[in-house]
Amino acid sequence: MSDHDASPLMRQYREIKRGYPQAILFFRVGDFYEMFYQDAQEASRLLSIALTSRDKNSPEPVPLCGVPYHAATGYIAKLLKAGRTVALCEQVEDPKLAKGLVRREVVRLYTPGTLVETEFLSPVESNFLAAVSVGTTAKHQPVIGLAMLEVSTGEFVVTEFQGDQASSQVLDELAGLEPREILFSPLPDRENQSWLDQIRNARLCERSAASFDQQRAARLLQDQFHVHSLDAFGCQGLTAGIGAAGAVLDYFRETQPTAPLDHIRRPRVRRTTDAMHLDSVTIRNLELLKPMGALEEGPGAKPATLLSVLDRTVTAMGSRLLRQWLVRPLIHCDAIRARLDAVGELKDCMQARVALRSALRDVQDISRLSGRIVLGVAGPREILALKQSLATFPEIAAQLQSLSSPLLVEARSSWDDGRDLYELIEQAIQADAPLSVREGGVIREGYHAEVDELRKAAKEGKHWIAALEAKERERTGIESLKVRYNQVFGYYIEITKANLARVPADFIRKQTLVNAERFMTPELKGLEERVTGAEVKLLALEQDLFAQLRIRLAEQANRLQEMAGKLSLIDVLAGLAETAALNQYTKPVIDESGAIDLRGGRHPVVERLSEDMAFVPNDTQLNLESHRLLILTGPNMAGKSTYLRQVALIVLLAQIGSFVPAAEARIGIVDRIFTRVGASDNLASGHSTFMVEMVETATILHSATVRSLILLDEIGRGTSTYDGLSIAWAVAEYIHDRRHLGARTLFATHYHEMTQLEQQREGIRNYRVDVREVDGDVVFLRKIVAGGADRSYGIHVARLAGLPESVIGRARDVLAQLEQPEATTIQQTKPAQHTTPPLPQPHAIVEEVRQIDLFSMTPLDALNRLAELQRKVSPTAKQPGS
Ligand code: ADP
Repeated sequence: MSDHDASPLMRQYREIKRGYPQAILFFRVGDFYEMFYQDAQEASRLLSIALTSRDKNSPEPVPLCGVPYHAATGYIAKLLKAGRTVALCEQVEDPKLAKGLVRREVVRLYTPGTLVETEFLSPVESNFLAAVSVGTTAKHQPVIGLAMLEVSTGEFVVTEFQGDQASSQVLDELAGLEPREILFSPLPDRENQSWLDQIRNARLCERSAASFDQQRAARLLQDQFHVHSLDAFGCQGLTAGIGAAGAVLDYFRETQPTAPLDHIRRPRVRRTTDAMHLDSVTIRNLELLKPMGALEEGPGAKPATLLSVLDRTVTAMGSRLLRQWLVRPLIHCDAIRARLDAVGELKDCMQARVALRSALRDVQDISRLSGRIVLGVAGPREILALKQSLATFPEIAAQLQSLSSPLLVEARSSWDDGRDLYELIEQAIQADAPLSVREGGVIREGYHAEVDELRKAAKEGKHWIAALEAKERERTGIESLKVRYNQVFGYYIEITKANLARVPADFIRKQTLVNAERFMTPELKGLEERVTGAEVKLLALEQDLFAQLRIRLAEQANRLQEMAGKLSLIDVLAGLAETAALNQYTKPVIDESGAIDLRGGRHPVVERLSEDMAFVPNDTQLNLESHRLLILTGPNMAGKSTYLRQVALIVLLAQIGSFVPAAEARIGIVDRIFTRVGASDNLASGHSTFMVEMVETATILHSATVRSLILLDEIGRGTSTYDGLSIAWAVAEYIHDRRHLGARTLFATHYHEMTQLEQQREGIRNYRVDVREVDGDVVFLRKIVAGGADRSYGIHVARLAGLPESVIGRARDVLAQLEQPEATTIQQTKPAQHTTPPLPQPHAIVEEVRQIDLFSMTPLDALNRLAELQRKVSPTAKQPGS
């Protein structure tokens, strides 16, 4: 920006703007926020408001646009949505008292991760600010620290990741909790930072290395939480995690320089071993939170995600907690059983469940409310919402009294009815208080003597004025005489033109209008001073008392947060119980057996998609011995993918502590669920479908353990038949064999050749989705039965899809020839002259693939090896790098 406008105001503007080069600066001038230079150009475009200029006569006028101060929120929301941040610069002294230029300061930086305004936040989604810090442990091992702060509620979590999976684990963690903004320190080499490029849907914000400095961070945390050592909250041994936590606090402080941060809770250190680690691919593939296809979520829409089927919470806090549970299933039997017992009890005690849920419906978002109370931004209605919530506490406690499962007993113990807080609000705040304390009428009668007096004075003053009007009418005999009020003149007497002759001498003329004149009398002036004086004083006093009340409540924020945590837990458990009751779910048995035994299992989402489609339940038997890897064959559209996902979703539901859609279920804890299914939307990154498929498969082979559950759907589909079959075959063997993985696996494939594996490996079992052929057509029975499909039925499906009969006929013909063992060339059809190239025998390649030790290869080696194989199969194939 040029410096030609040297007025003091513009100099002050440039000075302040220098501190916020990235943000759009809302510069308060009177009743407007003004923007200048590029900010003005950009904002006028993004907000569709007029772009003008300051001092149009100068040779280089400064671009300018502005928004009225009272409407700023809407405009800020728009800019945030457009991915921008906004620095709000206020006049911080009274212009009337200022000597010279009014002092101005940035009081708030609006960024996506630091919002506390109800208008900006989704009630059912958390709004995390994250920081990622790369460092080394005390033993000089590389480590990545991750801190997440939910600014509106004060929830604060720190985690560290180590080992060669660390960076992908951080990515997965970020995918699960979906922070809105991620802070990172400048990294020396681009390589380390490549994973940052994979972040979507969050604002990335580079911060100085100093803001991640561990010693500084430790001091910051100690000051914030008034402790002498970070060991107080289990941070011993953390390094990069502390740095990240410090960076988060530092940034938050910067965005809200004047706000007290007392609502921020001590960071909870989350060990990566406490919960199942779900990767982003699996969260997406299993459609836990978001549907994959074009299916719309929303009111009236079909449930398309596990969350939408499961979520019967009645509070926003509960809904947010359930989301967190879904992406972080538990892996310890005791913890899972504790949740299941509570859900079971609530399911059985319908009366308690109904009563609890009905009481919880009146519970507002206490978590965010107390955040806003501490930050000093909660208005009267929000305080009333807190009161309404507090009113339900005794009823909730009474209902819990009758329940005996440990988790609910624990919630009931050290229960805090918050009676004192309820009474405080009840006594202080008018039940019909307005949205903003600026409107007055907030403080209840009887709470403060002076408020009552001033209110009386203001009210009586109005009576006096009415009396004065009557008196003057009588004195002058003017029937139409009126006492009126406006902002500019205050009170005045208005006399119409026709009656001017009768105006007494002591009326002082103030203003002449077309049809009337306005007057003042000394008596009216005196009354006015008493009325408006009282009103002004009253308003100031009400604001003051309200602020005091808010501070008193803020001092109790910890109690409120504690109760908010209990209420969200009860809400989630009761919601799961409700779903279990309504959807006919059963309680799974959880153990360490390694078995997964399901009788009559159903897909929780598909079964609810259509009322008239009867979902066909299926059994599942998996274990670490004879049923380690199930090969599932059957035509396209038969229901293979649905079955695979159904098993994974049932396991996941069980491990978050939910009942499951099955007649009976026994689940040996799974440490991780891996999925390689369908086409991935990773295509945007420039990889071919096949490459993505192989990279994802490689990740699974590297990361899975014997306790994992793996779903593989049609792997090898992205390449030629024999390549695909060979790879699928080799992968199946690798996963099955104990010396490599030995993990429980569901392997859906349309390569019916793979059913031969059952004879060769002790832990492999064949299943197929049963179909019946009726007059050459396929009827899907959706039943999973033992044994392999002997053919692919692809042609039947092609026919169902409406391919021309002639194509279907020819395909049958070609198939018949291919199925002859010694076939290498396809006979030509009579009239047409097309040939099919000779096909090699599959087994040579299969043998070669069998030899490959995938475990010791990088994805690139694998690709090269694959290219080599492909060259053998088809010498003209395009090669990588060519
Ligand atoms: P595949 O993976 O074999 O191609 P899908 O799993 O995609 O088949 O299933 C195709 C369709 O069949 C799904 O859209 C679903 O609506 C229906 N379906 C699958 N399994 C069942 C079932 N057990 N009962 C009823 N309908 C089912």
